[in-house]
Amino acid sequence: MQTEIVIGLEIHVQLATRTKLFCGCSTDYFGAPPNRHCCPVCLGMPGALPVLNERAVELALVAALALGCEIPSYSRFDRKQYFYPDLPKGYQISQYKAPIALGGHLDLEGDGGGKRVRLRRLHLEEDAGKLVHDPAAGRTLVDLNRCGVPLIEIVTEPDLRSPEEAARFLKQLRQILRYLEVSNCDMEKGELRCDANLSLSVDGQLGTKTEIKNLNSFKAVEEALRAEAQRQRSLLERGQRVMQQTFGWDPERGRLEPQRTKEEAEDYRYFPDPDLVPLTIDEAWKRRLREQLPELPHEKRRRWKREFELPDYDIRVLTEERGIAEYFERVVELHPKPKDVSNWMMTELLRLLAEEEHPVPKLPPERFAELLKMVEAGTIHRNTGKDVLEEAYRTGRPPKEIVEERGLARIADEAELARLADEVIAEQPEAVANFRAGNEKALGFLVGQLRAKTRGRADPKLAARLLRERLSR
Ligand code: ADP
Ligand code: ZN
Ligand code: MG
Repeated sequence: MQTEIVIGLEIHVQLATRTKLFCGCSTDYFGAPPNRHCCPVCLGMPGALPVLNERAVELALVAALALGCEIPSYSRFDRKQYFYPDLPKGYQISQYKAPIALGGHLDLEGDGGGKRVRLRRLHLEEDAGKLVHDPAAGRTLVDLNRCGVPLIEIVTEPDLRSPEEAARFLKQLRQILRYLEVSNCDMEKGELRCDANLSLSVDGQLGTKTEIKNLNSFKAVEEALRAEAQRQRSLLERGQRVMQQTFGWDPERGRLEPQRTKEEAEDYRYFPDPDLVPLTIDEAWKRRLREQLPELPHEKRRRWKREFELPDYDIRVLTEERGIAEYFERVVELHPKPKDVSNWMMTELLRLLAEEEHPVPKLPPERFAELLKMVEAGTIHRNTGKDVLEEAYRTGRPPKEIVEERGLARIADEAELARLADEVIAEQPEAVANFRAGNEKALGFLVGQLRAKTRGRADPKLAARLLRERLSR
């Protein structure tokens, strides 16, 4: 029996709008007191009417354009009816028959690269509220702050072939959406979550799929899918059938948890929302948004490889976040040594950055370039440069100023070093005798002594020459 894993994902992404999809309530609900960001519209009071948020439409379009979707000139909103306490209207406004975007694709990078995952559709919908379980008190509370927060749902074709590939797809998608500033995609806040569908095809025959709901970390996606593939495989090996079913995932226990049986589309009794007019999107709007798209991460990586000749590893690390990538590009403009900039950024700057919650380095790129130039020119020693960087980073002061004030510049003053050379020769008769007896290594020792007197700031070449001159007289 030859089995193959088949996976398709349905991904929900919270759009980075300031207000909700159909009302003016703030979307900034994370950590807010429960039920504060609500109004008659998002609470579904009788007579309240939704008004579509243009910015949400725009962000959905930006995502769709970047993912190569087709954007029909007509789309509309449908009501999806179901009964659940976190959904006060009794229906969710979503898109069913006529979504805002169709098709599209994402090309997976890595292992030879180039595998294309097709997208089926991308649509707009509103989020539901949250139930807060309080088992100790034996009760469940409801928080409706999240009701009506705008989401896009992206549905893939069943093109993924392993749990690892599914996680990789999701990482790449997240990176693109963050570059586009369509969403923060903070998975801990539930801004990106996904339902994963999996089946096993046996000897090329497509099997029955199951669905795992609401996965909110890459690790959960990978582990839950691995567990489900294993479960289905052992059913098949025992000659049993896979039943269509929905699971939840318990990340602590690493366990699948059977939920209700799956609804069919008919159960939702979709129909066009009579409170909302259809959405028409004209060519001019699409054109304008397409022109404003930023360079996408994979495009950036391709260009960097061509222009900067950096190792793939450096490119991957430095293009992870758009802010960091653009910082790198600016520094290279000012100090056109890409590998040098990359080394300094990856070892020193990213370490400093990791110590705080800040998306881009606090140190302006101009200052960073100034520091690299001082090291390059030999004004300061490389190790001194690291200290200066750290201080400039923490205090925001210009590196040049720090070097001057603390007297860190390399000493290449011949008179000054000559005086120190004389001192060293007087203090180290043994090494001097050794050198005169033909031991070259003794010179290295004497140079070290001289540099110690300047706390490492003496120019080593000049120091060696001055010592040698004096010793061979
Ligand atoms: P449903 O009607 O059950 O909602 P859809 O056809 O709408 O199923 O697909 C929902 C998701 O399930 C999509 O992401 C799709 O790629 C995925 N999917 C469809 N068929 C399979 C399959 N045989 N194995 C795994 N995933 C599948
Ligand atoms: Zn509201
Ligand atoms: Mg479906």
